[in-house]
Amino acid sequence: MALAHNLGFPRIGRDRELKKALEAHWRGELDEAGLREVGRQLRAAHWQLQKDAGIQLLPVGDFAWYDQVLTHSLTFGVIPARFRDDSSVRPTLQTLFAMARGTGAGGSQRCCGASHGQPVFAQELTKWFDTNYHYLVPEFTADQQFELSWEQLFEEVDEALALGHAVKPVLIGPLTYLWLGKAKGATDSEQDFDKLDLLERLLPLYGQIFQRLAAQGVEWVQIDEPILALDLPQDWKNAFERAYNLLQKDPLKKLLATYFGGLEDNLGLAAGLPVDGLHIDLVRAPEQYPIILDRLPAYKVLSLGLVNGRNVWRCDLEKNLEIARDAQERLGQRLWLAPSCSLLHSPVDLTREDQLDAELKSWLSFAVQKCAEVAILARALNEPQALEVADALVHSRAVQASRAASPRIHNPQVQARLAAIRPIHARRQAPFVERIDKQRVGLNLPPFPTTTIGSFPQTPAIRLARQSFRQGTLSAAQYTEAMHGEIRHAVQVQENLGLDVLVHGEAERNDMVEYFAEQLDGYLFTRFGWVQSYGSRCVKPAVIYGDLSRPTAMTVDWIRYAQSLTTKVMKGMLTGPVTMLMWSFAREDIPREQQARQLALAIRDEVVDLEAAGIRIIQIDEAAFREGLPLRKAAWQGYLDWATEAFRLTASGVRDETQIHTHMCYSEFNDVIESIAAMDADVITIETSRSDMELLDAFEQFAYPNEIGPGVYDIHSPRVPSREEMVKLMRKAARRIPAERLWVNPDCGLKTRGWPETEAALVNMVAAARELRADPSLRG
Ligand code: GLN
Ligand code: ZN
Repeated sequence: MALAHNLGFPRIGRDRELKKALEAHWRGELDEAGLREVGRQLRAAHWQLQKDAGIQLLPVGDFAWYDQVLTHSLTFGVIPARFRDDSSVRPTLQTLFAMARGTGAGGSQRCCGASHGQPVFAQELTKWFDTNYHYLVPEFTADQQFELSWEQLFEEVDEALALGHAVKPVLIGPLTYLWLGKAKGATDSEQDFDKLDLLERLLPLYGQIFQRLAAQGVEWVQIDEPILALDLPQDWKNAFERAYNLLQKDPLKKLLATYFGGLEDNLGLAAGLPVDGLHIDLVRAPEQYPIILDRLPAYKVLSLGLVNGRNVWRCDLEKNLEIARDAQERLGQRLWLAPSCSLLHSPVDLTREDQLDAELKSWLSFAVQKCAEVAILARALNEPQALEVADALVHSRAVQASRAASPRIHNPQVQARLAAIRPIHARRQAPFVERIDKQRVGLNLPPFPTTTIGSFPQTPAIRLARQSFRQGTLSAAQYTEAMHGEIRHAVQVQENLGLDVLVHGEAERNDMVEYFAEQLDGYLFTRFGWVQSYGSRCVKPAVIYGDLSRPTAMTVDWIRYAQSLTTKVMKGMLTGPVTMLMWSFAREDIPREQQARQLALAIRDEVVDLEAAGIRIIQIDEAAFREGLPLRKAAWQGYLDWATEAFRLTASGVRDETQIHTHMCYSEFNDVIESIAAMDADVITIETSRSDMELLDAFEQFAYPNEIGPGVYDIHSPRVPSREEMVKLMRKAARRIPAERLWVNPDCGLKTRGWPETEAALVNMVAAARELRADPSLRG
């Protein structure tokens, strides 16, 4: 019998119940018992949903109050000293939230029951592999001790068993857990140790956990080691063998789960580890099958990840059944079926979408439906004659056929435009050195020109106006007038401050991707398709379902109005094709690079229209450019090639005199600086203030040829930086980049800030630029 199991289910709830409960708890409106009750109900509901869908072995340990990596840190007692006054006291839920969110200024929390006068900063958040989920980075010290400190997993196992479920606890494996953490110490030398040295101390904890789970009556445990899909240093590969040889003597059957990519050079290693089963991701890396069969020892279970855990499309049952049938012939009882990875990355339940077009809805599948897809595949193997199996296969075939043939997906005009793209379309007319001279004449800006990244504070009044317009209580004319009022205010403030290049402030935009997606053909929107991003934060990505095109101009009226208010240069503001793609659910029927090219052509039209409307500077934001980098180095160049091409395609429809800016929300450029240069934006603004300009090191090795605005102040904090600080940062930048190519601007958009601190900071920023201009040593 092939077994249907699941690697993890979204914890947030189909109505984001967990988000709401957490935020109510943090506001002091829901006590801990109330919060715990919401968690208990969600777990019970989610197990039942999976079971009803036909999943035979349910995951436990996929629930987390904030983040599953953080739960592991508590479980292992990896709690930095700043969160515990007394290490003999057991951590509490308040300790957990303090580690996630910090305490003191801004946060109302306490940790360890004691109220701290000093704010305590939270652990660092970072991206979970190549997903948009963020985890809290464990902090290790050289003398790190591990101690079982948190009972959540055992309690939840009891909870599930009491409900009569067959369960499989899920743990992050020891190597992946260590890999995700950071070596910390008070000094550089204390910090200078190898995390891998902690492995021997950590492993006994897994032994203890397995003992306890075995005593609870558990048979199988799932150990997630997604780092097996990365390029691993040799000592980490060796450590896998050492670790799993040691864990072998502990009780429980162990399923080693890998996902987000292929095992590639780690395939032999993963197949050979002394565990009882291996899960592989056949969505991201279908080529692993059937190779894996030749490498897998004859006693092992093989779990095939056939249903995509990271996208929203229905699975092609017939195609996958072929693989499953073949695997069943070879493996018999040893075959398990699952989603490719945890369903944490899928929206929860499609049946909730009551307003979606019926045809589009029939193409989609969320977490609950994905469980049913896994189950029906297993059932097709176990009971091939069952009526439901035949029905499901017929239905799946019909869905695939209707989608493949649908005129709603295929737009011949878009395809013809794509086919007509030539290298010349992705190239500006003249090279940068010639363009910049023409631009300088037309723009007539001072040295060290000042500008901002685009958005100004999104006040409650702005949000209310947008909401009222959506709900129909504000007419289009009233809404336009409200937004014009905001633009007038933003322009006035910028003129008073003496900024050189102005922006309209982006009041009309809810989100930098959704705003454009809503105006493009080929995108659909769900009402409840939320996915956890971190903690209580969720995102609802737009879904690309068909060929993308721009029916009409998207931003021109707003920007033209803004320009009409001032004689200064008004900068047009767009989101770039790569970022649009990375922050959407993408199609699976055509390659991502093709979707990027479609987006590029649509946004290119907007760039050209802005130019025709008299706009002389246009910024194309690529906040997610670096996020798209594949997990494996060998795949980087391929991605960088199509991503830079998409950007250039977007930017190259204009005259040399029109200046193209881009913005990126980070500054780790060392490894991609050549591609950033290949984008050939006239000006790039990046984040650097938090790293004290150190991240400009990349610009030392590689002479970045175009202009650059290294962010001089951190917009993530309400703190107002002084003029001196900003001058100092710019002087540091001027040591690496010629002064005549430097701009002065904040790190990112200001939409999350309030007006008072924004104005105060910009006053100082403009003063800093004036001081720099007055310094003869900085003249080019
Ligand atoms: N133009 C956008 C803004 O200012 C850029 C945001 C971003 O890079 N994340 O808000
Ligand atoms: Zn940014």
